[in-house]
Amino acid sequence: MQADKFNKTMALQKATVDAGIERANQERSVIVLLTGDGKGKTTSGFGMIFRALGYGQKVAVVQFIKGTQASGEELLLRDSFPAVPLVQMGTGFTWDTQNFTADQAAAWRTWQAAAAMLKDPALDVLLLDELTYMFAYKFLNEAEVLDALRQRSPQLSVIITGRGGGTPLRELADTVSEVKNVKHAYDNGIKARAGVDY
Ligand code: ATP
Ligand code: MG
Repeated sequence: MQADKFNKTMALQKATVDAGIERANQERSVIVLLTGDGKGKTTSGFGMIFRALGYGQKVAVVQFIKGTQASGEELLLRDSFPAVPLVQMGTGFTWDTQNFTADQAAAWRTWQAAAAMLKDPALDVLLLDELTYMFAYKFLNEAEVLDALRQRSPQLSVIITGRGGGTPLRELADTVSEVKNVKHAYDNGIKARAGVDY
């Protein structure tokens, strides 16, 4: 691109950006939904948790489905940020356990912890990792969870991850990103890798 064309393009872009910043004048907490079939939802959620920690904000993490293998994010939180509340449903993957009653009870207990955090006036950012599955499997009542999200403490932003976030959740969320699966190494027989996949 030639210099004068570049400068014109940048000037136009600046005008658009400035107008956008002017418009975005509401200050309030948000709900962010990270969904879709591609890789990158949980790691993005933790990215925001570490971003908030960088500002000394108060954060918490609730994981609704947890593999038997501890993830790097979990290890880092436990080792370096022991004060950050980390609640895990801890029943392993539901296709391993195949016990509806036990999983539903565990989901309910985990939700009780999340519901208490949603009311915490001191909390800035809460990650509800893999929450969407709780609705898909009917472990939790979606309407009840959405009500609690709506009535959360006003300063609290909430990140929700998981595939298949349904319409009511998409409507409630302020920011929705869908991670599209283009391809995944696993499909070519490459093993899940520490630091990349967990
Ligand atoms: P990540 O935790 O890496 O951000 P995610 O939260 O988007 O991934 P999940 O559906 O929660 O994805 O699955 C977590 C695990 O499954 C990770 O090890 C990830 O690499 C793997 N995974 C994610 N998407 C796919 C896919 N489309 N095909 C195969 N494996 C996947
Ligand atoms: Mg995930």
